[in-house]
Amino acid sequence: MNNVFVYIEMEGGRIADVSLELLTKGRELAAALGVKTEAVALGESLDGIEKELARYGADTVWVADDKIFNPFRTLPHTAVMCGLIEQEKPQIALFGATPVGRDFAPRVSSALHSGLTADCTQLEIGDHKDAKTGREYKDLLYQIRPAFGGNIIATIVNPDHRPQMATVREGVMRKEYAAVPAAGEVKRIDWQRFVKDTDLAVRIIDRQIEERRIDIKGAPIIVAGGYGMGSKENFRLVHELADVLGAEVGASRAAVDAGFTEHARQVGQTGVTVRPKLYIACGISGQIQHTAGMDQSSMIISINTDPDAPIARIADYAITGDVNEVIPKMIKYYKQN
Ligand code: FAD
Repeated sequence: MNNVFVYIEMEGGRIADVSLELLTKGRELAAALGVKTEAVALGESLDGIEKELARYGADTVWVADDKIFNPFRTLPHTAVMCGLIEQEKPQIALFGATPVGRDFAPRVSSALHSGLTADCTQLEIGDHKDAKTGREYKDLLYQIRPAFGGNIIATIVNPDHRPQMATVREGVMRKEYAAVPAAGEVKRIDWQRFVKDTDLAVRIIDRQIEERRIDIKGAPIIVAGGYGMGSKENFRLVHELADVLGAEVGASRAAVDAGFTEHARQVGQTGVTVRPKLYIACGISGQIQHTAGMDQSSMIISINTDPDAPIARIADYAITGDVNEVIPKMIKYYKQN
């Protein structure tokens, strides 16, 4: 009772990375609360799924294994999740901010009147005192996310309704095995109790999956170019440096808006969130909407003509110089070494 639920999303027969990231965070929250971490997997052919989930800290793995859950359909998923939450009463329920999570988590929260904070970038446990009533609350879920166009980082709490629900953006949290695998005890969801015939009225006749051509999320090294690259032609320097380093190419929104590169490469609040080992920011000023998507990188190098550009505040190494001079020197150096 009152454990932490993590919804496990299946992507082409495998567990989505965001679910493992959430499970890692879920077990940290559960440990802080002194409760258990429970994974909820709805899909088809899920035999053995508990082994992987236990490595990430799932004490319990709730499973509904049937063809009606594959591919994802909103209504049966919502019905089962609502039914299970009402039955088990977790205090926290977490979902990936993926197209699937964004579709069905709000329906679950609406049906349960619980509220939902979308697109969180951090989750913590903390106490809260209501300024109006003076009432004190212990061990609430701090749901942290950028707000007002990224100008503030808001901490949202939900003192009165359960579960406390949040969706979390992909790639924001670390996925890490637990030091000791958890029990991963399988419990079958009696889903037939929750799903009505009308939940199955919508049938999927055909699905066309567009391959993601560019996916920079998991890249260990990213060379990113900004508006300071000057032009689309000049942006090829970013690609050249990326090639010699075996890196992916990222970009700021200003570079994307100027047509220097594709939107799929945009890093930041309205792009992807990345956490590479090395992030080289070339001609990027470092506005919060950009840094929100890359400030968790292990090492950041910036190249900028302006020594006071905000990116210098988070960079481990800030090179003051013109990208047209610095990048060719780096390419030459790395080609030789
Ligand atoms: P600029 O701010 O124009 O900076 C260019 C930098 O290049 C400057 O620091 C300049 O000193 C330097 N420079 C110029 N010439 C050279 C040279 N020859 N050599 C070296 N350095 C040089 N932005 C994102 O990136 N990602 C997002 O997801 C995102 N989402 C947003 C969402 C909202 C709601 C809003 C309002 C904005 C968002 N933005 C986002 C935009 C963001 O606020 C900035 O406008 C954008 O990040 C700026 O990009 P930039 O640093 O490339 O350009």
